[in-house]
Amino acid sequence: MKRSGMRGSVKVFRFIFIAIVLVLEGSSALAQVPNNNDMSACPAPLLSKIKRHRIIEGETVSSIAEQYGLLPETLVKFNPNIKVPKIPVGQEIFIPPINGVKIEAPPGSTWLDLEGAYGVRADILFELNGCQKRPKVVFIPGTSWAAKTPQKDYTGLAGYPLPTPLTVGLSYGWQNSPIQKERLFHSGIDLLAPVGTDVLAADDGLVIYVDREGAYGNYIIINHRGNRQTRYAHLASVAVKVNQRVKTGEIIGTVGQTGQPDISAPHLHFEVRFKTNQGWVAQDPAIHLKIKR
Ligand SMILES: [Zn+2]
Repeated sequence: MKRSGMRGSVKVFRFIFIAIVLVLEGSSALAQVPNNNDMSACPAPLLSKIKRHRIIEGETVSSIAEQYGLLPETLVKFNPNIKVPKIPVGQEIFIPPINGVKIEAPPGSTWLDLEGAYGVRADILFELNGCQKRPKVVFIPGTSWAAKTPQKDYTGLAGYPLPTPLTVGLSYGWQNSPIQKERLFHSGIDLLAPVGTDVLAADDGLVIYVDREGAYGNYIIINHRGNRQTRYAHLASVAVKVNQRVKTGEIIGTVGQTGQPDISAPHLHFEVRFKTNQGWVAQDPAIHLKIKR
């Protein structure tokens, strides 16, 4: 009995030792290779990927932003000490990996609170920020953020996707689907408009996709500067081709009811997405558009 007990405790010690080695190895592997293929591991937080840039003679906020594929607003928000248009040569500034802002979450707030305030899904915020249990200092992807009153700080899309007043039939986010009778995540906004209404490019950009795709029906995707994308679904007709450059307000198609619309009233399903390490992430288009509710 006693011998087997001794052996048992040796086993336990050996197990603890191996566990400690594994933890140490695991943490160093994670630090060196943040994007490992282990799906169970959380990706390194975006805030850990911030680079530094030393300003040299002749550079402007815009030129630095362009160099890193960011919007000037993002640099200004990350570096409140830089003055536009004159910026201090020789000074180091912070360069985030994608457009967005760093915020300090109010004490006691949850990821769902931040989703409500910033229109970015809680699970995505959680993952982009290294899976912290409670948000503290976090990165919010996007371009124009002012919690609760986004319109005040509006630097969103230059135009509107419809010539008619923008009336929301179904908002972005978790919704009770009137047709499918279940709770579904609505990745865009349904803007009511009669069938045949012109659909317009919401900003200057490059058409990268025109096709018929499942529930989306006739569907157009336009890429814009600043890693932003708009998507237009259920169209009756399309008036653009892939690789075509479009200007804000240009007609790209007409409102229709192709695919599987989420509500029965005719509408344009409109999405705004941002490129992140996790792919193109849908945001609340209401943040990017001035909308009458
Ligand atoms: Zn929809």
